[in-house]
Amino acid sequence: MKSHTRVVVIGGGIAGCSTLYHLTQEGWSDVVLLERNELTSGTTWHSAAQVTNFGMNQTMVGLKTHSINLYKELRDDADYPVQYNHGDGGIRLANTQAQMDGYRHFASMARGMGVAFEVIDAKECARRHPLISTDNLVGGLWDGNDGDIDPASLCQALARRARKAGAEVYRNTPVTGLTQHKDDSWTVHTDQGDITCEIVVNACGYRVNEVGAMMGVHHPVTSMEHQYFVTEDIPAIAEAGHRMPLLRCPISDYYCRQEKNGLLVGFYEQDCKTWGMDGIDPHFVNALCPDDLDRITDVLEGAFERMPALTEVGIKTIVNGPITYTIDGAPLVGPVPGKRNAFCIIGLRAGLGEGGGHGWMLAQQIVHGEACYDTWCIDPRRFTGHTNVELTALKAIEDYQNEFRFHFPNEHRPAGRMAKTTALTPVLAAEGAEFTVVNGWERAEFFKPTPDFHVTHGFHFDESFPVVAAEVAAVQDAVGLCEVNGFNRFEITGSDARTFLDRMFCGRVTAKPGRVGLGYLLNHHGMLKGEATVANLPASDRGPERIWYGSAAASEFHDMDWLQSHVGADEDVQIASLTNDQTILVLAGPKARAVMQAVSRADWSAAGFPWLSVRECFIGYAPATVMSVSFSGELAYEIHVPNASLYAAYLALRDAGLAQGLRLFGAHAVESMRLEKGYLHWKADILTEFDPFETGLSRFVDMVKPDFIGKAALEKRVAAEPTKQLVTLHLTDDSAPAHGGASVMHGEGVIGTVTSGGYGHRVQKNLAYAFVDAGLAQVGATFDIDRLGQMVPAVIVDPAQYDPHMARVRG
Ligand SMILES: Cc1cc2nc3c(=O)[nH]c(=O)nc-3n(C[C@H](O)[C@H](O)[C@H](O)COP(=O)(O)OP(=O)(O)OC[C@H]3O[C@@H](n4cnc5c(N)ncnc54)[C@H](O)[C@@H]3O)c2cc1C
Repeated sequence: MKSHTRVVVIGGGIAGCSTLYHLTQEGWSDVVLLERNELTSGTTWHSAAQVTNFGMNQTMVGLKTHSINLYKELRDDADYPVQYNHGDGGIRLANTQAQMDGYRHFASMARGMGVAFEVIDAKECARRHPLISTDNLVGGLWDGNDGDIDPASLCQALARRARKAGAEVYRNTPVTGLTQHKDDSWTVHTDQGDITCEIVVNACGYRVNEVGAMMGVHHPVTSMEHQYFVTEDIPAIAEAGHRMPLLRCPISDYYCRQEKNGLLVGFYEQDCKTWGMDGIDPHFVNALCPDDLDRITDVLEGAFERMPALTEVGIKTIVNGPITYTIDGAPLVGPVPGKRNAFCIIGLRAGLGEGGGHGWMLAQQIVHGEACYDTWCIDPRRFTGHTNVELTALKAIEDYQNEFRFHFPNEHRPAGRMAKTTALTPVLAAEGAEFTVVNGWERAEFFKPTPDFHVTHGFHFDESFPVVAAEVAAVQDAVGLCEVNGFNRFEITGSDARTFLDRMFCGRVTAKPGRVGLGYLLNHHGMLKGEATVANLPASDRGPERIWYGSAAASEFHDMDWLQSHVGADEDVQIASLTNDQTILVLAGPKARAVMQAVSRADWSAAGFPWLSVRECFIGYAPATVMSVSFSGELAYEIHVPNASLYAAYLALRDAGLAQGLRLFGAHAVESMRLEKGYLHWKADILTEFDPFETGLSRFVDMVKPDFIGKAALEKRVAAEPTKQLVTLHLTDDSAPAHGGASVMHGEGVIGTVTSGGYGHRVQKNLAYAFVDAGLAQVGATFDIDRLGQMVPAVIVDPAQYDPHMARVRG
């Protein structure tokens, strides 16, 4: 065995083999894979190995397309052909119009990635899959690329190609320990000796946390037992003259594909079971869990009803094996939070279909620092600190029970709720708050007008529409109060803090004590990495001069990693997270100033505390740090309060607000108002796939600055023609929003993708943001948006539809 290499990939299932292969493809050949037993001896060997193109967002569709193209190439490799049944097609069934709407949306989204899904009715489903009945069936989503692959030969083929390119694979070499050195390099300890390397990758499937523990981390990954059976031959299959398409059933929770002349049927039963929670037998290798068909009787019935032929054949084989789940159903592919030079590709529950693409995404991140698609939906840093074993298991169970039931917009499921709350959560609940979950935080969406008020989840505007409109009106006409919990906040101190931040931001962010600025962080490719508010707190009895860096609620681990990794060894910069210590109360509306004046002794006049100011003060007797910044487009104050004083500050503001007509408002009202102002959301509209100019943020870039992270790359991009441009669109139809991912059409061609959409209640327009072809991005240009399968005309309008000259914000 080598004693040194650049990357050690631990685990030889599809995740590890794909990563190894793609590292060589990205140009790194001095790489090694260590496998404790034989390749594919974890979950991979017994996988049903269906390969689909379906994804909930464009990154997932794109990486799955990569898998399919790669697998076709491997199938056609004359030297080592892999058995891949590509193109059998597949149907996701639906028995409600709301599910059909979802499929129409996913078809629109995939269209932008060059993938053609079809939404078909029940009759057509049965025509394409002759074994199914149309009882209680509305229709389905057809994916012509669906198929299945032989998992063992796939992994062997990837390992073989990687070896040919210079990689080495050591089988029967269990990793027993990991030691990280001061220079962030690693020693990987194995039964066969040690190997040093720059970077380690955890690709250990259900043993993920054995290797996680070796580096001192716990990954939010749980294993579930998962079963399928294979039937004896079904005569109708042989008679059909074509292979049966795959089936996925959200009505009765099973999937099905052809295996020889029978069917392989897999189940997601409600009475499901976690696996390996108290440790895994070291001898569980190439192994299965005991058969347990009793567990699946509830779902079996649904499969029998849909495919009566199943009742007439015997079962040939039963497979029950561990499959990994995370807390939101998507895997963890990227940097390990809080560690340097450590990556993971874990929590794959559809690893055969997706593994080709995930390995590609990971190898790009390792070699180039970023992948070609924005990988936030699979970034291991998207959960921050609340995902212990119990919470992960609860969410995994819930996810397993709902395997094919996608989340509707604004749907937040019940498991693992109340993970992060503030003293105000029960108070707002008593006021009628309907809560959404933001990175575990319970955040009010809107306030129900009656206790039994109910929203029907779907893709159209729902019953909350007039409720949100009324909250917006209250903010516009008088004053509103909104809790924003979980907002990420770092305190940055040290004599080099200022020069450090100057290097991190692509623009000039104000350094004046008492002032606040907005800035953008780029990666080394000149693309958008982050967005942050920088507030300069003057020295006070609460501490020395310091900087508060504020960013999106889920960005804590991501931004901390990025900032920490750029602090020079000789720089005096300290970054401390205050995220869990403080909560924001937003007071917004023309009467906000009067409320502030009533609860706090300071001078809140426009001259005494102009827009973009920050000061420390008291709200009643609650210590607070107040910033005059606004995401609503109204005069507003962001009141940051230590959690111990949050309720006191809330009571003081509510009492003082009574005289001014204060009303509580929630996240949906904020969303409506920010869309009218042209304000962006990180990871909805601000993506690593676009630079700040394409994203309409040129006013936040200073190309004259001597240097900043990403400047050289940005200069090159500026010299070339821009390809995409973020624009605001006004849809002529008000029955449903344009959801993120929907395609913008020019004739038959896709020229853009929606990033956010919603109703602007103050301007009374159905608005959407979209990246469109730069050459077509002129105000007044009209296109169609493929919204739920309907072509809805939309016109490009100015980004700030409400108060473009900012008179209301300045008050
Ligand atoms: C019944 C069933 C049906 C499925 N059907 C499908 C399907 O139809 N389509 C689909 O896409 N997915 C399916 N899946 C899921 C898919 O099989 C998995 O997502 C995938 O196999 C996971 O691959 P992996 O490489 O992450 O993990 P594994 O295959 O478990 O590989 C991990 C490897 O790491 C090695 N390892 C662990 N610890 C160490 C150590 N300390 N040192 C060295 N090596 C170590 C293990 O030996 C193992 O080989 C199914 C899963 C099950 C259980």
